[in-house]
Amino acid sequence: MLIFLTNFFSDFLSLFYPRKCLLCGNQLVGDNKFLCTNCLYDMPKTQFHEKSGNKTAQVFWGRVDLNFAASYLYFYKASKYRKLIHLLKYKNKPEVGVFLGELYGGELINVEKLKDADFIVPVPLHPKKQRIRGYNQSEEFSKGLSNVLNVPVANLLKRKVFTETQTKKSREERWNNVKDVFDVTDCDKVEGKHIILTDDVVTTGATLEACMLALKRCKDVKISVLTLGIAQ
Ligand SMILES: [Zn+2]
Repeated sequence: MLIFLTNFFSDFLSLFYPRKCLLCGNQLVGDNKFLCTNCLYDMPKTQFHEKSGNKTAQVFWGRVDLNFAASYLYFYKASKYRKLIHLLKYKNKPEVGVFLGELYGGELINVEKLKDADFIVPVPLHPKKQRIRGYNQSEEFSKGLSNVLNVPVANLLKRKVFTETQTKKSREERWNNVKDVFDVTDCDKVEGKHIILTDDVVTTGATLEACMLALKRCKDVKISVLTLGIAQ
């Protein structure tokens, strides 16, 4: 009865405050949050967590030794799903990151290679950028993962100097720019641990690699990588 009343009340409320799908604008019904059933169903999931030599893992082959790597979604160039990243990064929608993290966490819950993870560590934003944005999108994604996987989020990395926007640079330029900008805040906490490093989108992997190298400066660290998307 209570559930009926609650549903009735939320349906009633939505007459006046319609909740809309962030991607297609259709009205949300029932328990749907942010995305409608169609948009959820059509999400370009990679299923990388089921394939060990997947494309995200390949990005780091010959560069860093990883325990596990996967990305949740393909971000194709003209795909409407890229809007999710846009909302998360530029439209003040941190809750989209938590939401997607929780969805992904649900898919990862039985992955053996993640079961002994100690911390989820987001790639840090430069403090100045974080002050302007008000949050770190990778941290919001991490919170969602954490809610489901029961692994705590810990900000154990920090950025040393400001790097200019990464998008228009070549791989080499990007690498020279980022390779030395990360530091571990407390090696005692990292030593001997399994860290899940998270980022929003993996492209060349330069930023993630730089973070991994910083983590590897501490003794005996096992590293896995999870990203919300992989650029296509
Ligand atoms: Zn939709």
